[in-house]
Amino acid sequence: MIIKDAKFISSNTRADQCPQTELPEYAFIGRSNVGKSSLINMLTGRTKLAKTSSFPGKTQLINHFLINDKWYIVDLPGYGWAKVSKTSRESWRKMIHFYFQNRPNLACVFLLIDSRLPPQKVDVEFLEQLGIMGVPFVLVFTKTDKQSAAKTDANISLFMNTLKENWEELPHYLKSSSSSKEGRDEILQFIESVNQQ
Ligand code: GDP
Repeated sequence: MIIKDAKFISSNTRADQCPQTELPEYAFIGRSNVGKSSLINMLTGRTKLAKTSSFPGKTQLINHFLINDKWYIVDLPGYGWAKVSKTSRESWRKMIHFYFQNRPNLACVFLLIDSRLPPQKVDVEFLEQLGIMGVPFVLVFTKTDKQSAAKTDANISLFMNTLKENWEELPHYLKSSSSSKEGRDEILQFIESVNQQ
């Protein structure tokens, strides 16, 4: 897929204030620093569409970007900040749950996982929540350029092994690097195939 046009549409705190649309949307989420903004910029070929590394304490926003006038990328606020209060964590949880339950045009969530790390509890727990809510998702293992392909695959296997206990079917996954652009074609092809369904 060629991205001819990518434009910022809106930032909202509530899913019911987000664009009223029947166009499909694809949401990106993961632990803070996982490389979400870099991935969105890499996919769209824009250097500053998504802002990199917003810090805790800032308003947590749902950002919509319209791509080729046909589908949306949604940049969701990340989780896992070490120094975030219980209250902020709870307001993040409510906002995200409300988003997942109130966007009938949500085609798929890309759950980003740092490929350099062994399985993180916070990621596994978030993934369980997606399963409980019945939200369609795929995993994207990010920052693959940071280590050997063998190390990436070993970490992916470890992650999948932790899921085997609770999941009958393991989730689909892709690998990405915003530096080498690994995964760009696969992610865009995946989106194109879902758009055509
Ligand atoms: P976010 O908080 O999830 O939006 O993460 P960012 O996109 O801001 O990335 C966090 C840090 O990781 C930044 O310093 C990025 O330059 C770096 N980074 C993100 N993706 C990659 C990647 O694929 N490869 C490498 N080497 N660094 C990355």
